[in-house]
Amino acid sequence: MATVHHSACPLNCWDSCGFLVTVEDGKVTKVEGNPEHPITQGKICGRGRMLENRTNSEDRLLYPLKKIGGSFQRISWKQALDEIAEKLAFYKESLGSTSVLHSHDYANSGLLSNLDSRFFNLYGGVTELTGSICWGAGIEAQNWDFGDAYSHAPEDLANSKHVVIWGRNVARTNMHLFQNLQAVKKNGTKIYVIDPIYNATAKLANEYISIKPGFDGLLAAGIMKELLRLNLQDEEFLANYTVGFQHLKALLDSVTLEYISEVTEVSADVITHLAEIYADRPVSTIMGLGMQRYENGGNTIRLLDALAAVSGNIGIPGGGANYANKQVGQSFAYNEMALPERKTAARSFTMMRQAEGILSAIDPEIKMGIVTCGNPLTQVPDTNKVKEAFSSLETLVVIDQYMTDTAVLADYVLPAATAFEVEDVYYSSMYHHYVNHGPKLVEPPGEAKPDAWIWAELANRLGFGEEFNFTREEFMKMGLSSLAEKGITLEKIRTEKFAELPVDKIPWADRNFKTPSGKYEFTASAAPDGKVKLSLPSESKWTNPALAEKYPYSLLTIHPLRSNHSQHFHLFQPEPYVKVEIASSVAAEKGLKEQDHVRVWNDRGEIHGKVAVLKAAHPGTVNIDEGLSARFGGSVNQLTSSRESDNGLGSTLYDCLVNIEKLEKD
Ligand code: SF4
Repeated sequence: MATVHHSACPLNCWDSCGFLVTVEDGKVTKVEGNPEHPITQGKICGRGRMLENRTNSEDRLLYPLKKIGGSFQRISWKQALDEIAEKLAFYKESLGSTSVLHSHDYANSGLLSNLDSRFFNLYGGVTELTGSICWGAGIEAQNWDFGDAYSHAPEDLANSKHVVIWGRNVARTNMHLFQNLQAVKKNGTKIYVIDPIYNATAKLANEYISIKPGFDGLLAAGIMKELLRLNLQDEEFLANYTVGFQHLKALLDSVTLEYISEVTEVSADVITHLAEIYADRPVSTIMGLGMQRYENGGNTIRLLDALAAVSGNIGIPGGGANYANKQVGQSFAYNEMALPERKTAARSFTMMRQAEGILSAIDPEIKMGIVTCGNPLTQVPDTNKVKEAFSSLETLVVIDQYMTDTAVLADYVLPAATAFEVEDVYYSSMYHHYVNHGPKLVEPPGEAKPDAWIWAELANRLGFGEEFNFTREEFMKMGLSSLAEKGITLEKIRTEKFAELPVDKIPWADRNFKTPSGKYEFTASAAPDGKVKLSLPSESKWTNPALAEKYPYSLLTIHPLRSNHSQHFHLFQPEPYVKVEIASSVAAEKGLKEQDHVRVWNDRGEIHGKVAVLKAAHPGTVNIDEGLSARFGGSVNQLTSSRESDNGLGSTLYDCLVNIEKLEKD
């Protein structure tokens, strides 16, 4: 008999949707939206619906595997755990615990996915990853400017006179914000999209502004110049709640509007028009992640933050420099779960340069890697280097639901349960501020196990099992303990299916910023030279003309529509292929047409695919969606660089020039 249960989307996504999941004969048979969810209101995307296939697919990993003589063989859990624990003990004893690398990402937004950190901290502290491939430069930029990265609550959009969607295709990645935009537009709010690609969100906009990829910060500087020239700045905010404005002013005075227009490829008239819009408060700026995946990424977000501040759009209803909403994740008792104080040794690599870290580490060398919630072979820049690094490890353990490109390289692959096979609570620090409950609905197939079970078993073998002697329920209560005084308990979330977290719906309304000065910092005291800069991408005709001569096109690697990073592609029918989307200017210059086989290359690598000509994209723009695995021709990260952003904590995935040519035969 079919029964329908509430649940939640575990995917790393802005929307954190509420689900209704149908279960029949112990099997998930349908995933739909829960109309009762206060934000997502019954609408979900194809990636969420496809979790039914991800749960039931015959390709699921069912048993622990060990690579013996170059091929995987099924082994028992006891053998797998005994051998992995033995290696962990050996490496710690002989070289120190930091000879082990924990490579992780954010494939699961469940609260209990943080238990991997608890395990590694109790083990003694391993080599960890810092920063983020996805949004690290922007987070650090907002830490410098505001003291944290907070967004306005979804419903506050109704207070905006203008909404500027800057470098973000919310129709693809944040569907409930898109619906919100449709609603506020009907009530008279004007919508502007600034993006190199005329995307589905741009179609909704009142005005679309095409920009050269990577030059968004410079455009923000141009808008600020015009605000000041027209005397439209918010003097009261600047005088009372900011520090360092004189440095920003000197920076803006150092360039002309003509230069900014030439470099951004946005006309001076449009820049002036945008200044007038920004002065017509309240203006909500909704920033994308792509524009900070450049070497100048931190400064790009800092210049957009500065624009929101100079124009007086901070801390007011309908305003905001909306990038991330970290106050959501900060609601939970993370430290109680992860016990960071228990580690006695520490070393870190940035997420972007984990491959270089592995290959160059000494004292101790990295001997063992454990991968959780991630697939670095597909997602981390410079795939060829990542492959070399992970192949060099004496022992690689991957915990996953599928045989990913990373798992293929492993010595041990441990099969993990999916979200519908365990109970957890789910949240996203990106958009809305509700936490969702996901009950256990079905049994894991074969011998797949919850991650928490794996950590507890390894902890038992390594002598700190008592620290994992908690049920899932007890761990969830531990993570929610910080919310108890606000009346948010596991019992309440179980009963009501979701709970509204106590966050500031209009951040910085009290003008108390979390910076060292307590003010908005145009010149950040968190950094040695905290002045904002007008830096450009490192791969451009302005910064590296010789490289741009050889590789004239700007490559973007945007999020795919139907797959959450690499998680869904293998379930597609028919099989996916590398789609090379090109601006019509590229098609004309290279004589390319739809479905032509092409080679895209630079000094780091090359990838083959089929052409799709974009109807409207900024001249010279090429896009290949990220996430496709090697078996389908990926990953596009063969082309991307592992350089770090200017503030050290973000990737430079989009700071990537390429060339393209037609292949007669693929
Ligand atoms: S992927 Fe995002 S939009 Fe799609 S169902 Fe999950 S949370 Fe909702």
